[in-house]
Amino acid sequence: MRDLGHEGSITLVGNEAQPPYQRPPLSKAYLLGEMTADRLYLRPEDFYRQKSIDLRLSTYVEAIDRDRREVVFGDGGRLPYARLVLATGSRPRHLPVAIGGALAGVYYVRNLADIDAMATEFQPGRRVLVVGGGYIGLEVAAVSSKLALKVTLIESAPRILQRVASVQTASFFQHLHRDHGVEIWEGVEVAMLTGVNGRVTKVTLKDGRTLDADFVIVGIGVHPNVELAQAAGFEIDNGIKVDAQCRTSDPFVFAAGDCASFPWRDQRIRLESVGNAIDQGEAVAKAIVLASECYAAKPWFWSDQFDTKLQIVGLAGGHDLAVVRKSSETALSIWHYRGDELLAVDAINQPAVFMVSKRLIEAGKSPDPKVVTNLNIDLKSLLHSTR
Ligand code: NAP
Repeated sequence: MRDLGHEGSITLVGNEAQPPYQRPPLSKAYLLGEMTADRLYLRPEDFYRQKSIDLRLSTYVEAIDRDRREVVFGDGGRLPYARLVLATGSRPRHLPVAIGGALAGVYYVRNLADIDAMATEFQPGRRVLVVGGGYIGLEVAAVSSKLALKVTLIESAPRILQRVASVQTASFFQHLHRDHGVEIWEGVEVAMLTGVNGRVTKVTLKDGRTLDADFVIVGIGVHPNVELAQAAGFEIDNGIKVDAQCRTSDPFVFAAGDCASFPWRDQRIRLESVGNAIDQGEAVAKAIVLASECYAAKPWFWSDQFDTKLQIVGLAGGHDLAVVRKSSETALSIWHYRGDELLAVDAINQPAVFMVSKRLIEAGKSPDPKVVTNLNIDLKSLLHSTR
């Protein structure tokens, strides 16, 4: 908003103690110990002072008083607003307390404090159970294996990455993990975590198997943080419901990021990705300062596991054809189509293919599947084709 010329006051309220920081490295380089906390910060602390942004850390917003256009803090203090942006994110789903989800030694991954709390557990030779085979589970499994722990990952769905990637991509990552000694068990769920003196030691699965664990990391998805908005009467539909400008039903209030559900093509979606959070943040700033700009989602994702980089553009849900462009066993891309339409591309160790496919999808182009699998064809030439 400052870059766009907004001169009025800006207050940024967050309930964590640190200034805003990047979350993607938390389950990768930061967990591995290759990145220090100060490198996570999005801006140096004096940035906020220089830009006259009132940064209020460790501050909890209790309620929104829409009639008076004020937010109410946990200590009862109030702050008036002309415009309000809800960027409340999401929080990890927990395993139920009744099955041991709150035992000591059971960790969830969302913020810096979560990672710092589990750091001392990562000693070579210890046994970690990872629950959930989404990005969190696979990334922490890769880090644990690199740090010479014994890793077992269990996934309740028939396969890992069920929600976010295609069967071909999941199969590549299964092999990658197994080649590094990670045990992956699919189609199984935790029945009970049990412990000694309140600390987890053993896991019983629903199929009756048991295994010993020194600690457990749970990555079984997230809940959008909608409660504040819901209590203030905003419409909720798998997230805070916003229009194409990220505006809620109240013209003075916007929502962006993991907590917001927005119109996309003929449906309403909520994207859990940093790319979407950045793009929607910019769209909200433009809507407020320039009173313009519809948000056009350009879904893209990435994940680093071992020495492999996965980059995804588009959403593959509903595809009826997937073709593979394979440069080598470890460098390939999977192209997803519904009918003739190119929906999404998963690129594995192929950054150049990712860049071209992103431009193709953003331009609405759908090259023939036979053409994209032909390694003799330079993909860049497709940017100039009519299809
Ligand atoms: P996720 O993508 O929803 O994956 C969680 C997985 O755990 C799902 O496959 C889920 O299966 C499975 N699961 C659910 N309950 C289970 C149980 N009781 N036992 C075993 N498996 C179970 O979420 P996540 O991996 O926890 O990640 C959390 C958020 O962080 C997501 O928004 C994710 O996109 C984001 N994140 C992104 C990146 C990245 O983009 N590289 C990295 C880290 C985190 P069902 O679908 O059948 O429930």
